[in-house]
Amino acid sequence: MQITEPATKEVVQQKWNKRPLIIAGPCSAETEEQVVQTAQRLAATGKVDVLRAGIWKPRTRPGSFEGIGTKGLPWLQKAKQLTGIPVAVEVATAKQVADALHFDVDILWIGARTTVNPFSVQEVADALRGVDVPVLIKNPINPDLELWTGAVERVAKAGIKQIGLIHRGFSSYGNSEYRNAPMWHLAIEMKRRNPELMMINDPSHICGRRDILQEVAQKAIDLDYDGLIMESHVDPDHAWSDAKQQITPEQLGEMLNNIVWRKEDTASAEYHAALEKLRNQINHLDDELMQILGERMKVAEKIGQYKKENNITILQTTRWNEILERAAKKGEKLGLSKEFVTKYFDAVHLESINHQTKVFNS
Ligand code: PEP
Ligand code: MN
Repeated sequence: MQITEPATKEVVQQKWNKRPLIIAGPCSAETEEQVVQTAQRLAATGKVDVLRAGIWKPRTRPGSFEGIGTKGLPWLQKAKQLTGIPVAVEVATAKQVADALHFDVDILWIGARTTVNPFSVQEVADALRGVDVPVLIKNPINPDLELWTGAVERVAKAGIKQIGLIHRGFSSYGNSEYRNAPMWHLAIEMKRRNPELMMINDPSHICGRRDILQEVAQKAIDLDYDGLIMESHVDPDHAWSDAKQQITPEQLGEMLNNIVWRKEDTASAEYHAALEKLRNQINHLDDELMQILGERMKVAEKIGQYKKENNITILQTTRWNEILERAAKKGEKLGLSKEFVTKYFDAVHLESINHQTKVFNS
């Protein structure tokens, strides 16, 4: 068996700063062999920077596997010793933080079910006071950027300097293509608000199934995410948790191979010149859109005036449905999605009503 130098603080630093950062490993640590073999086969792909494994599993329903507990931590130590790959574990309580640090876990993460609970986040943050360890914070299970931000603030206030974000999607009721709806716009907004924090994507928990992992991972990279965290197991079908979304280390290696890695920028002058031209066109079209919207609102005000003079209510629902149906039909011909057209015209309608209300009140 090959023995590699255990990961030092510098190695962890180097990995933390690497782009793209690739974290992979089983949903849960199950046995020593499973952890060690997964780590070795992941290391053999040459593409994995950090090994993940759940030791304490927050399960939605009782009765399913709730994690192997502290006894699994030495297995991670061993995996690290054999491969040189730093390890990451989810923590949700002060005791779990203490145990993970005691067994040299290099990176901690706060899970989605913990991020929703300020008491738990505060407990973890308090346990981290005075500790120099990188912490990743998953989005809360509900689509609430304030909760996510609150967790970041609590951990930052505890003195943690290296904080990263994990986008793992949001729970929704009923059937959907995804286990957790990605709601990409929320992660993009979180990134916009916190440009200094790394944002990595968790296709495994977004998809909940293997067949769409590749496309979600590619989308994240196309959106300039800083990396991926993905579940990988030596025997995915028999995994003790999240079996449907796990893939073998070799499948993961292939998936990473197939990703088209893009960067946010390039030094090529030709590219910049072409992009600038297209962006000017967009700016020009946006100006025209605004101009037209302004004119539309003026017409809405005139309509408001007529309604007021004739004692008619501002809102006529049948008219509104008519506008939406017309727009959806026209939009379809122009290649615009129904979802977009509906959202856009809802916003336009609201603005129209506000303009008419102003006329009614004048
Ligand atoms: C996990 O990473 O295995 C996990 C429990 O994820 P989440 O907190 O995103 O549900
Ligand atoms: Mn999992």
